[in-house]
Amino acid sequence: MMEKKKIYLSSPTMHGEEQQFIQEAFDTNWVAPLGPNVNAFEKEMAEYVGIPYASALSAGTAAIHLALKIIGIQPGDIVFSTDLTFAATCNPITYEKAVPVFVDSEKDTWNMSPEALKKAFEKYPNPKAVVVAHLYGTPAKMDEIMQICKEHNVPVIEDAAEALGSTYKGRHAGTFGDIGIYSFNGNKIITTSGGGMLVSRREEDVKKATFLATQARDTARHYQHSQIGYNYRMSNIVAGIGRGQLLHLDEHVAIKRAIYAQYKEAFADIDAIMMNPMNPDGSANNWLSCMTIAADSKVTPNQVMDALDAENIESRPIWKPMHLQPVFAECDFFTDEGLYTQRRNCDIAVGENKQPYGVGEDIFNRGLCLPSDIKNTKEDMEKIIRIVRGLFK
Ligand SMILES: *Cc1c(COP(=O)(O)O)cnc(C)c1O
Repeated sequence: MMEKKKIYLSSPTMHGEEQQFIQEAFDTNWVAPLGPNVNAFEKEMAEYVGIPYASALSAGTAAIHLALKIIGIQPGDIVFSTDLTFAATCNPITYEKAVPVFVDSEKDTWNMSPEALKKAFEKYPNPKAVVVAHLYGTPAKMDEIMQICKEHNVPVIEDAAEALGSTYKGRHAGTFGDIGIYSFNGNKIITTSGGGMLVSRREEDVKKATFLATQARDTARHYQHSQIGYNYRMSNIVAGIGRGQLLHLDEHVAIKRAIYAQYKEAFADIDAIMMNPMNPDGSANNWLSCMTIAADSKVTPNQVMDALDAENIESRPIWKPMHLQPVFAECDFFTDEGLYTQRRNCDIAVGENKQPYGVGEDIFNRGLCLPSDIKNTKEDMEKIIRIVRGLFK
C-alpha cells in the first residue's frame, strides 16, 4: 500500500542559495564558529529588522541565556516570563538559579497580558527582567508592556523566536526590548538547521554576547579568563544557510499569511472555530496558524488532531502553559485577577480541563496548531480543510 503523502506542520524550505554560501565557506576553508558568513549574516539580520547590532549564536535558547547574563542576572533574582509559550523562553532563567514568575496571556493576541503584568509587579516590584514572547508570530502589545516595564525600570528581553518578520506599529518584533532574540531552529520561519541571534541597540551588550559566546577570553595572547564563558557561537556553515534563507524570508512570510487567510476564510461559517487572533496594531508572520474550538462544541481538539494524523497530516497542541508544567509547579503565576491560587493539576491534557482558569489554560484546553508548511500545495490545503470541516458537520 502506498504511504499517504505527509503534510508537515512547519518544515524547512530551502531554495539553493544556502548551498552557494556553504560552498563558499568550504572553498575558503572557513569551516569554523567564525568567518565571513557569520559576520555577513549578523549584518544582514540587523539590517532586516532595523537594529544596529546582532550576535549570531548556536540557538535561540543560548541567546535568551546570554541576554539574562548581560542584564546581570543573579541566583534568586525574580524574572517575569510569558506563561503560554515554549519552555525555551524561561528555561534559561533557571540555568542561573533565578526564579521565574509567570504572567498570563490576554485574549486579544494570546500574548503577555499587560493587566496580569501589572498584578505581578504589585507583588514583585523589582524583578531583574521581563521576558516577553510573541506567540506563533503575533506581536504582543509592546507599547503597553514597555510602558509598564519602564515605570518599574526593568529591562525587557523580547523572545521573537517565532516572530521574525512580524511587525508592531511598523517596527520589527524583537527590536522593542533592551535585547531581542530570534531562532533559526528547524521548524521556524527561516532555519539554519539550528541557530539563534541576539540583537540590541547597545553595542556593548552585543559585544558582550559574542564575548560570552566564545568562552569569555580576555584580550591577551595567553588564554586568560576573568569570567565564565560558553561555547554558543554560530558556525560559518550554519550562517551560510541563514544568509541564503534570509533572501527568502519575505516570501516565507507572504506564504504563511496566505495559509492563515485561507484557513480563516474556509472556517468562517463554522461558529465553533476561531482562528488565533491578530494584533490590529501589528502584522504577524503567521508562523503557525492556530484555532480554538468553542467549549460547547461536540468536536474536541484531540479529534481534529487524530483525524489529521490518520491522513498523515501533522498538527499539534498549543504550547502547554508554563505554570502547568511539573517542573515549574512551585512558581508564582499571575492572571488579570492577580496571584493564581487554584490547585494546579500539572497532568492535565488538552480538552480535559473542566474549569480552565485564566486565558492561557483556556487556549491550551481548546486549541491546536494547524499544518502551516510553506510547501503546502493547493491540494494539501484543500485536503486539510475538508478533513476539519467534515468533523463539524
Ligand atoms: C523555538 C523557540 C525558542 C528557542 O529557540 P531555539 O533556537 O530552538 O533554541 C525560544 N522561544 C520560543 C517561543 C520558541 O518558539
